[in-house]
Amino acid sequence: MKFDYNKLAVLRRKQKISQSELGEKLSVSNQAISKWENGVSKPTIENLYMLAQIFGVSLEYFFETSKPSVFSRSDKAMESLTELYKAGRGPSSSHTIGPEKICTRFKNKNPDADFFKVTLFGSLAKTGRGHGTDEVIRKTLAPAKCEVLFDYSFADLPHPNTMDIEAFISGRKVDSVRAYSIGGGSVAYDNHPYIPPRKCYQLSSFKDISAYCKEHKIRLCQFVDENEDDKFDSYMEQIWNQMKESIETGLETEGILPGGLNVQRKAKFLFNQQHIDESKETRENRIVCSYAFAVSEQNAAGETIVTAPTCGSAGVVPSVLYYQQQKHSYSDDEIINALKTAGIIGNLIKTNASISGAECGCQVEIGSACAMAAAALGELFGLNIDKIEYAAEIAIEHHLGLTCDPICGLVQIPCIERNAVAAMRAINSVNLASFLSDTRKISFDTVVRTMYETGKDISSEYKETSEGGLAKVYTE
Ligand code: SF4
Repeated sequence: MKFDYNKLAVLRRKQKISQSELGEKLSVSNQAISKWENGVSKPTIENLYMLAQIFGVSLEYFFETSKPSVFSRSDKAMESLTELYKAGRGPSSSHTIGPEKICTRFKNKNPDADFFKVTLFGSLAKTGRGHGTDEVIRKTLAPAKCEVLFDYSFADLPHPNTMDIEAFISGRKVDSVRAYSIGGGSVAYDNHPYIPPRKCYQLSSFKDISAYCKEHKIRLCQFVDENEDDKFDSYMEQIWNQMKESIETGLETEGILPGGLNVQRKAKFLFNQQHIDESKETRENRIVCSYAFAVSEQNAAGETIVTAPTCGSAGVVPSVLYYQQQKHSYSDDEIINALKTAGIIGNLIKTNASISGAECGCQVEIGSACAMAAAALGELFGLNIDKIEYAAEIAIEHHLGLTCDPICGLVQIPCIERNAVAAMRAINSVNLASFLSDTRKISFDTVVRTMYETGKDISSEYKETSEGGLAKVYTE
């Protein structure tokens, strides 16, 4: 069993004990408590016994169980793929789409408010300016005036992406809420268990889904059709249309991306170049990469993209599929089937691990997108379910441990290039899987679990805080 650091923070806050007071009771520093609550270090077993006594809970309470918490999706049914693929403004599902959703709901609840105060904490504060979080919040809460404050502390936070909103009418506070942007544009609220909008998949491991598909002789995309509702196909049509539009607009647009890093858009340049000794392979590489750059640059510019599974990784899946459609004239329906298969992969990762870079590093954003693209390609090529599983597994396995270290908090370096490289890796993964699936040792479920464990062990400097890696070393 694994120590669940969220539970300690929630218990302590509920019982209104400060970190210093708790530290005194245990004869440890308040910094030690803060580290336990943020998952940086763990209490000793002696400390755990004392914590259990202080809070009147059993020792087991502090370990991850199947009990749902504020953020838990551990009842294991899976949400609709409409919760995975979302069209919205980039550059970050957790930093722009999530806060936009929180602000829209709060504004609708308080239509007469003339002033809003929003405080961003943790990762939202540290990288919020770079991601344009404050801009999106102001636009969403307009025409009311809005003040956005940044609190850079991580102490006492049950989730790294926390925000408080207060509503005022003529200077009098009328409402407030603490909310969390928990990744992929999904949100949760304080003291309210996370309630996903729709849970239509009762199976939530690849092993079970694969067994079901084999028994009923159906493909993964047909499994999706069995579980989604009538409106789903038209939703997916819109999603694919938006993906294509992001590529096409991105390919036409030049200039410098916002944020101050002076990053030039490169999609159009890449698309129009020709290698000095261009072969079929180098052309494929260049064109797929130009599509991935196009979407990622649109995302970095705050334009509309589709989360697949997140904004930061939005370029991988569409670039691979658009290239195949251009090359082999696949119909939109065939591409949508591939997106459905990819969606199952993304949903399994979201349900059993995380797709939030702030929670588990870039491995769960770019690694997941790569796995989705590999599975989508496997579907387009008509590979059997074992080969699709293997392609997705390879794609994740070689992203394990990938950190999130965006320079200046902008989703530009390393993010844009990383989408292009992951698109190529997805193609390689599916090629390899088409030959080797009979000899594989690692299942998709195992690699997802490994990714989650690895993500929890990655220190917070490398999880969307811009305090480590390239973000720290790059000084120009
Ligand atoms: S490094 Fe990866 S996880 Fe972090 S912002 Fe960039 S794409 Fe997202």
